[in-house]
Amino acid sequence: MSAHPEISDLAEPVSVLAGVGPARARALERAGVRTLRDLVCLVPRRASEAAAELTIAAARERGPGPVTLRGTITRVALQRFGGRSTLRLTLADETGELPVLFFNQPWLRKTLAVGSAVQFSGRLGGARTLALVSPRIGTAEKPLAAAGTVELDYPAVEGLSSAALGRLARSSAARLAHQLADPLPEEFRARHALCALGEAAARVHAPADAAEFERARRRLALEPLLRLQARLAERRRERRAGDALLVPFDEAAHAARCARFPFALTAGQQRIAREIAADLARPRPMRRLLQGDVGTGKTVLGVYAALCVAGAGAQTAFLAPTELLAEQHFQGQRRALAEAGLHAVLLTGALAAGERRTVLAQLASGMADVVFGTHALFSADVRYRRLALCVIDEQQRFGVAQRGELIDKGRDAHVLLMTATPIPRTLALTLYGDLDTSVLRERPAGRGSVRTRWVRGADRRRVPQFLAERLAAGERVYWVVPRIEAADEVLDEDGRSSGELASAERAFEKLSATPLARHGIELVHGRLESAERAARLERFRSGAVQLLVATTVIEVGVDVPEATVMVIENAERLGLAQLHQLRGRIGRGARDGWCLLFGAAAAAGRFEVLERTHDGFEIAEEDLKRRGMGDLAGLRQAGENSEGLAELELDLLLAARELMEAEPALAARYAVEGVAAPAP
Ligand code: ADP
Ligand code: MG
Repeated sequence: MSAHPEISDLAEPVSVLAGVGPARARALERAGVRTLRDLVCLVPRRASEAAAELTIAAARERGPGPVTLRGTITRVALQRFGGRSTLRLTLADETGELPVLFFNQPWLRKTLAVGSAVQFSGRLGGARTLALVSPRIGTAEKPLAAAGTVELDYPAVEGLSSAALGRLARSSAARLAHQLADPLPEEFRARHALCALGEAAARVHAPADAAEFERARRRLALEPLLRLQARLAERRRERRAGDALLVPFDEAAHAARCARFPFALTAGQQRIAREIAADLARPRPMRRLLQGDVGTGKTVLGVYAALCVAGAGAQTAFLAPTELLAEQHFQGQRRALAEAGLHAVLLTGALAAGERRTVLAQLASGMADVVFGTHALFSADVRYRRLALCVIDEQQRFGVAQRGELIDKGRDAHVLLMTATPIPRTLALTLYGDLDTSVLRERPAGRGSVRTRWVRGADRRRVPQFLAERLAAGERVYWVVPRIEAADEVLDEDGRSSGELASAERAFEKLSATPLARHGIELVHGRLESAERAARLERFRSGAVQLLVATTVIEVGVDVPEATVMVIENAERLGLAQLHQLRGRIGRGARDGWCLLFGAAAAAGRFEVLERTHDGFEIAEEDLKRRGMGDLAGLRQAGENSEGLAELELDLLLAARELMEAEPALAARYAVEGVAAPAP
């Protein structure tokens, strides 16, 4: 496409480029690209040096890894289901055959007909059988690049192929990258071996080799982090000037609060209660992250903080990510609060208009001391007489942006964040700014242990008998299915059909027809009216029914101590942290529990981690390794460009934090102008 030589302003929208009409501009926006600067700074997902060509036999011999193969297509089959499709091919050379799969690219059937001679380059993978999935294609007219050449892989978005995006980025970078000034101090760049921004943008789209790509990528990947650090630094400066409710520490009052609970606090809970009390005894707003594995007893610490604040005449908003959890906290804590003379209310979307008005009036008048609810607690029409504390439970479920917004709303409020998805301390510092952290490691005494097993093949047939025994002993069983309704066929990561994806409704029907249903069976999922869902859960909690079929709505918070077994179908669809959260629903009572995973071999690695350890920190580390830092921090959820975050060294992240702390002017510029700000 022809370039416009007169265009030189990086802040211009991409639509100024020849060949970028409204449709392409929208597609680019989906890739997070609005301006020419965004386009030039877009980092390809991957750079790979083309692999040397092997025979099929040699590739099989070597096993999983990058390969380039040459051969003839001997079989082609296209399967369609709904809007999706799988193209299965067989590639043969004189030494053997290999399956090759392409997903959702049915048009490739034309290029890849039986008898055509092709080259494929990609990753050989697969758990049981080796296969090449979505490789690059080389033909006689358009052969693949020679071994050693760097090939870049750009993201593909609806309406724009990855190749077309690559062409746009490359041609724009060639013309414009030199205009990017690097706002970072030169000394900082030198110390951390960072190339200048303009050079990075130029090289990242045309690297001489993989190492050069990596250097360029590292500089560009730092940009969103700098922006985040800039915002955090600004927030810290604001906070230092903050003026929060001060609750003087008093030993007798502390002891009285700890005695409010129906059990003695564990040593860890006592230590953290003191940390919280110390935070509240300062005028600077508390920003504390409480990390503790599922079942360690975090909730009471939120309630402890609420008791402190109420003692000084102020209100607490106790925020949960789901209505279900908000309701449960409200039901579980209102008694302890009432005994302390405090009035707790629940504010969810399920309230009738009249009830909602009453609750709002009580919050405005100060009659309500503690309110439980979802982020609706911060809607514009909710007024507090004196809000002094926000407890944010399961904070990892809120994106970075949302969390920031919540914290900003209560600028001078104390904030206690709680999570069962721990993150390493350095990471917490880097990504959450100035949070103090508390870690709750021990569980309340007298808890059973939970063992996890990946159950496959014939062993699955023994599960009903096992469940029957547990149910007969009066225990409760969760049967978790990731989806509500029957969906179309799905493929596992090796491209094999795993048949119809289980759905909660089907599982419920099937189990209802078995003898297990004698013990009572209920179904809960996210689309039920919340009153109905609460009623069904209550029947499970009370033991009126002992078998609960559920989607992942029960992932957070649901607390039924009699539950000892959890079966998770299609477990390969869930991430490590999510599976760990789910199994946290069992082993909450004295009896030992079992978590039985049904799932495709593609996720064997994840299952193995869960079988081996129950330590949330270890699992978080594994998750970090597998998914990258961006996901874990909720950055991706918040729509930030966090690709490549995982590969940035922690010391670099910490240095970025220090820089933004030390240089308010730079921070202000990054915070406002965002990525890759040009020189003024
Ligand atoms: P989580 O950390 O997963 O949020 P919860 O706060 O839901 O854990 O607590 C799990 C269960 O342990 C609840 O039933 C709670 O009442 C109970 N619990 C909490 N602290 C103690 C304690 N010190 N002794 C006994 N049981 C406790
Ligand atoms: Mg909890």
